[in-house]
Amino acid sequence: MQTAGQGDRSTRTALPDESRTAESYDAVLIGGGPAGSALATLLARAGRRVALCERDRFPRDKLCGEFLSGESRRVLGELGCLAELDALRPAAIHACRFTSPSGAVCGANLPSPALGISRRALDAVLLRHAARSGAVVLQGAPVCRVEANAVNGSSPLECRVHLRPQSDAHAVDCLTAGLVVAAHGRRAQLDRELGRKFMRRAHPYVGLKRHHRPRTGAAGERLAATLDGFVEVHAFHGGYCGMSFVESGVVNVCMLVTEAFLANLPSSRWEDVHDGLCRANPRLAERLAALEPDEETVHAVAGIPFSFKERSSGPVFFVGDAAGMIAPFCGDGQAMALRSALLLGDLILQTPSRLCGEDHRILARRWEACWRREFGFRMRLGRWLQPLLLRGWTADAALRLATLAPKIPDWIARATRGA
Ligand SMILES: Cc1cc2nc3c(=O)[nH]c(=O)nc-3n(C[C@H](O)[C@H](O)[C@H](O)COP(=O)(O)OP(=O)(O)OC[C@H]3O[C@@H](n4cnc5c(N)ncnc54)[C@H](O)[C@@H]3O)c2cc1C
Repeated sequence: MQTAGQGDRSTRTALPDESRTAESYDAVLIGGGPAGSALATLLARAGRRVALCERDRFPRDKLCGEFLSGESRRVLGELGCLAELDALRPAAIHACRFTSPSGAVCGANLPSPALGISRRALDAVLLRHAARSGAVVLQGAPVCRVEANAVNGSSPLECRVHLRPQSDAHAVDCLTAGLVVAAHGRRAQLDRELGRKFMRRAHPYVGLKRHHRPRTGAAGERLAATLDGFVEVHAFHGGYCGMSFVESGVVNVCMLVTEAFLANLPSSRWEDVHDGLCRANPRLAERLAALEPDEETVHAVAGIPFSFKERSSGPVFFVGDAAGMIAPFCGDGQAMALRSALLLGDLILQTPSRLCGEDHRILARRWEACWRREFGFRMRLGRWLQPLLLRGWTADAALRLATLAPKIPDWIARATRGA
């Protein structure tokens, strides 16, 4: 059987002639989004034996505003995949614009130019890069359970990561490692398995996303000119809707709405959501009138959690959205996922490749402190500001205030992202 550190360790799928056994690694990572792929690249490049288990098969679409904040460029550069991403010709975004239900508009320049790039493209590049860097990448490999021996003293930590049995079964159904990092995103069944507290609470937020194109004709051209170089966030009572160009002239329309907003519509079909949005914010109505859908599918996710999450629990460390999710209007979730992978990677590489209980405890303490230092303030700011955007009258008041004091939006644009 092929193992880490030997031969071609590119992306693998099923190998039917291999017996289903356990494989052993220094680290097993769960989830191949930006956080998991970036961390896998860093650890594998440093010579650690890494396996990355991804539930889906790439390329795949993902619900996201697809606005990649400017500070990500540095991380992507450090990972060595910036040129590959630039070759996809992402849209360049240098400013943001917010609108309210009564028509107030305010904007700010971004502290550094951002990219508009689809998750289908971005995630595929990052995952491929992890495989090329030496990580063993298993796709179509959902993790269903993690077990470990007691985490104490000087005895080596031994974790077992179980894959859900599937029809397209992998050669292995269990991976063992001294270190397990969960980068499985905002919320998954695995969180319930791990007994995470935030899963006990209700999270009444729904995300919807659909790619569009400007219509042919004057209205479409006007919209393309208005949106060129901008990310827009249109607030309304019960949600906000972001839009910006991604690669290939596509406009991504992505929103966060409350369950109550959807419950007031005749149905949750796209046509009814579309009409509800047009009634809720006149500028959003103008934009949507100049766009037409570019894909059949409407991507939807319910139960999006913004509450507190632990950075580690038992034998498992969390990174990216799995460690904490910033309010989407900040447009910093992917950048935080990448940056948190870099930070955790640095800490892991300061520990021996075979962790004992004491190493694990020290790493957990350091990771908690590091995460809070780096992300604590912007998470709190996002959590505090989001409710203002979700209520029509507070969004109006906040945006009118911001137009009177233009330094406020500039400051928020800087404070909700890294250096
Ligand atoms: C409505 C909305 C709009 C947003 N807009 C933006 C934006 O414009 N800009 C921005 O930067 N951020 C945005 N975000 C946030 C952004 O999507 C996340 O912060 C980012 O995707 C986090 O990356 P990640 O690697 O932590 O997790 P993810 O990107 O969620 O990746 C997790 C991966 O883990 C896999 N996985 C899940 N469970 C398992 C399992 N059991 N076993 C194996 N694999 C598993 C999944 O298939 C997935 O590929 C938005 C979020 C929402 C909800």
